[in-house]
Amino acid sequence: MKRFMGYNRRRRTQRRLLAETGGCCIYCGRRLDEFTVSVDHIVPLSRGGLNEDVNIVASCYYCNHLKYTMFVKDFIGLLSYKKQRAFYNRIKTLCRQGKLSEDKYMLLSHIGAVSKMSRINIQFGRFQFRCVFLLNIRDKKPKK
Ligand SMILES: [Zn+2]
Repeated sequence: MKRFMGYNRRRRTQRRLLAETGGCCIYCGRRLDEFTVSVDHIVPLSRGGLNEDVNIVASCYYCNHLKYTMFVKDFIGLLSYKKQRAFYNRIKTLCRQGKLSEDKYMLLSHIGAVSKMSRINIQFGRFQFRCVFLLNIRDKKPKK
């Protein structure tokens, strides 16, 4: 029973992620369905990424496998110029259409090189809030 529920939950997550990317792999634009989608951690878990909704995105198995423990900018940097442009245009369009959240867009476009994510729990009387912070540390510009 537990396994069955886990399966349904995973399917729901997959469908939601597919809606965010318009049914495409976020990195290469390949068409995906619920059988070919895989869930990629934008900031890899091994590099401080969290297993939170803001940090997961629909990708094809191929890109997910290739990206592995790389940051988005390092992975995208391996692609041809044309594919890089297509990626940035894709995420910009999805964000403008309101499909992709701004936080996710920020993480994917590494505006200011997102280097860390952290999570804190805030206790307020009987209520507990869970916050996820995206710490954006801007690339230092060389001094003139
Ligand atoms: Zn792909």
